[in-house]
Amino acid sequence: MFWASLGTCLQAFIEKDNNDDLGVYFFLCVAPFAAYAYYALFSRQRWGFMRINVRRLKSVRLIERHIYVVCEMIERIYHPQNRIELEGLLRYHTKSCRKSSDSCICHTLSLNIARFEDIQEEKKMWYKFLKGLLEESISKFPKSPRLHLQHAYFQQDRIQNRFKALYELMITEENRPDLREEFLIFHYK
Ligand SMILES: [Zn+2]
Repeated sequence: MFWASLGTCLQAFIEKDNNDDLGVYFFLCVAPFAAYAYYALFSRQRWGFMRINVRRLKSVRLIERHIYVVCEMIERIYHPQNRIELEGLLRYHTKSCRKSSDSCICHTLSLNIARFEDIQEEKKMWYKFLKGLLEESISKFPKSPRLHLQHAYFQQDRIQNRFKALYELMITEENRPDLREEFLIFHYK
């Protein structure tokens, strides 16, 4: 936008000298640079998200936010940009994942990513991947009521496992939740 505006301003300035063609040529020269700058900025942001490793996030709040964003992207995986970002995230995770294919779904998901015909079936697999990220986060902060609460929400609302959701709520209660968290426990029960 900056380059487009700059180009337009300079074009207006040049047109004052009654040379219309020069102004148009100048704008045409600036436009590709503007498009490149926009693309570079946009792809850098996207690349930043893809390279997040949940194990390396240092606070519960950052993990909580990351899990929330991934969860929303899975819900809207039909959107091409969400799909690209999720696949990038999966690729980055799989590269550094030391777990066997029995303990982490990332390997199976990577192999089958282009083979899904039913979007609900695909979502199920992605949610299993997210469940792994949540469990990994909880193993890093086992006493965090916020993460157990997020896990309970995920179990209840996204994969409809009521039993596991209640179990996570029970653990949340054992880890001294604050007033807001207590209210959420009451709400989910
Ligand atoms: Zn993995």
